[in-house]
Amino acid sequence: MSAAGGHLRVIGTGPGPDHWMTSETAAILAEATDLVGYHPYVARCPERPGQVRHASDNRVEIERAAHALALAAAGRKVAVVSGGDPGVFAMAAAVMEAIDRGPAEWRRLDLTVHPGVSAMQAAAARLGAPLGADFCAISLSDNLKPWETVARRLEAAAEVDFVVALYNPASKARPNRIFEAFDLLRRVKAGETLVIFARAVGRPDERIVVTTLAEADPALVDMATCVIIGNSATRRIERGEGREPWVYSPRSVEAD
Ligand code: SAH
Repeated sequence: MSAAGGHLRVIGTGPGPDHWMTSETAAILAEATDLVGYHPYVARCPERPGQVRHASDNRVEIERAAHALALAAAGRKVAVVSGGDPGVFAMAAAVMEAIDRGPAEWRRLDLTVHPGVSAMQAAAARLGAPLGADFCAISLSDNLKPWETVARRLEAAAEVDFVVALYNPASKARPNRIFEAFDLLRRVKAGETLVIFARAVGRPDERIVVTTLAEADPALVDMATCVIIGNSATRRIERGEGREPWVYSPRSVEAD
């Protein structure tokens, strides 16, 4: 049985700055006895006296989730910390998977998942409304799924003209995946399709590039970048006098 008073809160701290962290998430961080997460995300949380930090490597998500569940079952007030939203390519799914495979008592824990601002939302807000029409989000990481699956999904999304938000677009281990993704997109979509590289949105080193599929240089993309590929109707609004353009995807769509 779970010890009295223990709980697990699954939270996301937003894409970077504190003002993009919800007040609910800040309150959970303030009351947690234990923080569990990938070390850069844990490091971003304010230090509190007496709070125990269990920072771990990125590749051990299920073990990390199981550790957090065991701590909560032992009576600790645990926060599992992701960046952005915990349900978008982050720890909420790992916690669910650990419960699914774990001891029955974990199903009875006081567990809640709390929404956060995801990177694609922050990036889209900077530009105007590039996600204003139907869109999908795809993680380019092939740590947890075969690259062939990633490529098939990307191609299908391009073929039905979704706006696509790409997460985890590059890694030191596999720097060529983003080039392969662009080769694939260029075979399916028009060269004038708008492409956004939104890097480190909300952080001091933020850099946003608006370009086209034909001209985009995937070498600009790193792990801190969210890439948004427009649909066939995604448009720029030029503002002149050195101002950055707005970009939006109209909500109305012509019949196919
Ligand atoms: N749960 C997170 C995503 C985790 S996957 C969320 O909801 O945002 C990590 C990927 O998120 C990175 O590789 C990058 O593609 C994207 N990302 C996270 N923070 C970002 C930021 N501030 N600016 C741009 N992209 C970001």
